[in-house]
Amino acid sequence: ETEQQPQKDFIFRSRLPDINIPKHLPLHSYCFENLSEFGSRPCLINGVTGDIHTYSDVDLTARKVASGLNKLGIKQGDVIMILLPNSPEFVFSFLGASYLGATTTAANPFFTPAEVAKQAKGSNTKLIITQASYYEKVKDLDIKLISIDSTPEEGCLHFSELTLADENEMPEVEINPNDVVALPYSSGTTGLPKGVMLTHKGLVTSVAQQVDGENPNLYYHSEDVILCVLPLFHIYSLNSVFLCGLRVKAAILIMPKFEIKALLGLIQKYKVSVTPIVPPIMLAIARSPDLDKYDLSSIKMLKSGGAPLGKELEDTVRAKFPNAKLGQGYGMTEAGPVLTMSLAFAKEPINVKAGACGTVVRNAEMKIVDPETGDSLPRNQPGEICIRGDQIMKGYLNNSEATERTIDKEGWLHTGDIGYVDDDDELFIVDRLKELIKYKGFQVAPAELESLLLSHSKISDAAVVPMKDEAAGEVPVAFVVRSNGSTDVTEDDIKHFISKQVVFYKRISRVFFINAIPKSPSGKILRKDLRAKLEAGIPN
Ligand code: AMP
Repeated sequence: ETEQQPQKDFIFRSRLPDINIPKHLPLHSYCFENLSEFGSRPCLINGVTGDIHTYSDVDLTARKVASGLNKLGIKQGDVIMILLPNSPEFVFSFLGASYLGATTTAANPFFTPAEVAKQAKGSNTKLIITQASYYEKVKDLDIKLISIDSTPEEGCLHFSELTLADENEMPEVEINPNDVVALPYSSGTTGLPKGVMLTHKGLVTSVAQQVDGENPNLYYHSEDVILCVLPLFHIYSLNSVFLCGLRVKAAILIMPKFEIKALLGLIQKYKVSVTPIVPPIMLAIARSPDLDKYDLSSIKMLKSGGAPLGKELEDTVRAKFPNAKLGQGYGMTEAGPVLTMSLAFAKEPINVKAGACGTVVRNAEMKIVDPETGDSLPRNQPGEICIRGDQIMKGYLNNSEATERTIDKEGWLHTGDIGYVDDDDELFIVDRLKELIKYKGFQVAPAELESLLLSHSKISDAAVVPMKDEAAGEVPVAFVVRSNGSTDVTEDDIKHFISKQVVFYKRISRVFFINAIPKSPSGKILRKDLRAKLEAGIPN
């Protein structure tokens, strides 16, 4: 009889050696380290106007903004909101807040007024930087407003109020590495969207894990032109495009919105070398009938992340861009966000398999746990992906319960994603345990839609789950129980009721009426059962 051995953890590490990370530096100091050596290099290229801002310009403007914010009463520790499409002003505002020791929460400018209000109130936002076209969404919030273009009303200040401030009047602040610099919103593994506290140390660590060192995992360098089309309000773009680009002194091409012809034109015009995108943009590029009309030979790195990349699409893109490195990164806002990165992107690249999401970043540990027992699993066995390291979030803002559910006592962050690590340390994601729905990489939190559905007088119960969709990856669909006697409420009524209240990608694509929502004895929605119903193709 063998005695039962205590469970030992199977821990996975990068195949690249760990590096030294200057974790003591505030984020802006880390990004602008040795500024004098590269001050005249192009930092931002405005894809709309063609304007170029050098590294010195960007740093100086950020310090002016810090000084201007301070003049308007923003102090270290305060939260400002950016409600803007990608633009130089977005960047100046984020870096300015960082210089001041303030925190930025960026919201999707397409949010409805109610969605913006929730984030602004939840984060205790003291000032909002936006543009005239979104003024209506924020004017009733009783929060100081700054517009980057016209100022529609008295009381709304112009952005020049910040950029004309004297940088020498910027207050001296001492920033602790554990201070929060970015506060993106994410629903995580369950429930409503929550503020994710990312610290200076966390973001410095994450950026370093990607681009620092002799043989960086993500080999961006100063000659690169990096496409910034993914929205900067999402941490994928802010971190892995913008901050990583800054750190290596590359030129960052800013595009405010995705449009395929404009994108191809800009790649040709500015000789873009790195394109970090999401699968739906990959698909648009692969399918574009205009692909041959543009010279896209400058692209050396095609990086996909944010949602699963289908193998077929990956193969198609590989065939169309034989000279570019193609691979995936895998991120989750709470993880800072990057957990794994393809080693195809390393300075000394390693061949990778199609479908792989990369290998765990350096200076971090990954393990795969059995979701039932919590035991860690060896290679090739799927389980919940967990990550540990200085890059992960400090926690959810004002929500220790959700924090403790996500980060365990040993510091492991539980992602709610199911995957396995193979013999070559490559991670394959096979399923999602958590509720989250991803529409083209955008987050849709079922709990948010369920609570809206339950506010309808003719609905007594509801559950929202993902349904596969070719264009979007997934779309939200609802299972709805009608209230007693209200047989008249229709699918269209319900869809309309929701679409008035949410940003476009949270709109419910189908409604299935059902007699009861399947639930566990403890009252949890059995989402698996509903997903199975959809897969079986008989939702009633
Ligand atoms: P977000 O916090 O919005 O970045 O969403 C994080 C979630 O997106 C992850 O937990 C995954 O479920 C999904 N995701 C991100 N990157 C990938 C990828 N490369 N492959 C599959 N799923 C991904």
